[in-house]
Amino acid sequence: MADNWTPQSWRNKPILQVPSYPDQDKLAAVEERLRSYPPLVFAGEARALKASLADVAEGRGFLLQGGDCAESFAEHGADNIRDFFRVFLQMAIVLTFGASKPVVKVGRIAGQFAKPRSSDIEKRDGVELPSYRGDIINGIEFDEGSRIPDPERQIMAYRQSAATLNLLRAFAQGGYARLDNVHQWMLGFVADSPQGERYEQLADRISETLDFMASIGMTPENYARLRETEFYTSHEALLLGYEEAMTRVDSTSGEHYTTSGHMIWIGDRTRQADHAHVEFARGIQNPIGLKCGPSLQPDDLLNLIDALNPSNEAGRLTLIARFGHDKVEQHLPALVRAVQREGKKVVWSCDPMHGNTITANGYKTRPFDRVLSEVNAFFDVHQAEGSYPGGIHIEMTGKDVTECMGGAREVTEEQLSDRYHTHCDPRLNADQALELAFLVAERLKN
Ligand code: PEP
Ligand code: MN
Repeated sequence: MADNWTPQSWRNKPILQVPSYPDQDKLAAVEERLRSYPPLVFAGEARALKASLADVAEGRGFLLQGGDCAESFAEHGADNIRDFFRVFLQMAIVLTFGASKPVVKVGRIAGQFAKPRSSDIEKRDGVELPSYRGDIINGIEFDEGSRIPDPERQIMAYRQSAATLNLLRAFAQGGYARLDNVHQWMLGFVADSPQGERYEQLADRISETLDFMASIGMTPENYARLRETEFYTSHEALLLGYEEAMTRVDSTSGEHYTTSGHMIWIGDRTRQADHAHVEFARGIQNPIGLKCGPSLQPDDLLNLIDALNPSNEAGRLTLIARFGHDKVEQHLPALVRAVQREGKKVVWSCDPMHGNTITANGYKTRPFDRVLSEVNAFFDVHQAEGSYPGGIHIEMTGKDVTECMGGAREVTEEQLSDRYHTHCDPRLNADQALELAFLVAERLKN
């Protein structure tokens, strides 16, 4: 076990982004109940993910991580989950084909409920209320009652995560993800989409290949890898009381794992090396992500790597670069060089969303061309530094929302109001997500 670490040791450290629960006894009682609940994921699965990420760190795979900015209680339906899973599978197959490498699929799902906020207060028409912090903490409605943090919401988040995970496991292993369904994943896809056409061509090639394989006896019935897929869950480990309550000792290794999801990450606002979020993450054995924004200096990064991955285990740590399309060149090379100089084993992933948020027509949005441009800049820097661009981390949905501007089937500034449904940050819609996957596949080929 990590030195001087316990699942509670974060409580003695400075901490940011803490909700002010009015009733601490009620909070403690909820955490006690969560401690007695079954784990959502198993340590062995988190270890399998770590092993796959170790391959990515060595350049033998690619990480696809994505999903909602914030899951919500209101939108917990089978259609939403299926539509997300379907586009995610499409993206994965596009990338697998492009990269000729296994794609490690990690959803921002089944636990992505807590949100860091830039301000504690939200002001509307002269009225000030506590900010919305995600459905696991308080309600999004702009009224005083719903903005008060309610511990019971943690129980609801746990149960929703369990139900979501149950359906995802069924999709991944119960036949839906069979590779010979590659055309079915497209049904319901927007008919006039250029990405749809591109995807269909690729699906045709896969079908031909599968027909050939079947003719020599290699059918999905005989090969689990064609019949099912591996899918993992992840979220930002922001609400540490919840994470602590979900932490269990794995009976196989005797080590601690948070069983709230397979992988967790530390946000850009809470990654101070001597603070609570880093303290909690350093002691659990799950794969960890670390958001790296413009304020991160190379020395701080090396400190954080030492704290989070002292044994330099490949697959343990994924660095998620999120600078903004015009800041990658300025910040990323120094970080990549520091990591290379010290021989640190990490997965480098690109979050092209969080540094590219602007306001247009009164909506928080992200211009799709800037998203693409950040991804391109990320690949350029890695190419120049002789380092491996190992993944992308995106906010996306399977629905045809109008939250990010642009794309081949363009969402204009005026259209943002049409289907703007996100509970927090603007997400790529299905079309934009697939377009991004095609671009990344091109970059991986070169
Ligand atoms: C997020 O991933 O939703 C998020 C808040 O990211 P970051 O910590 O990079 O700002
Ligand atoms: Mn976000």
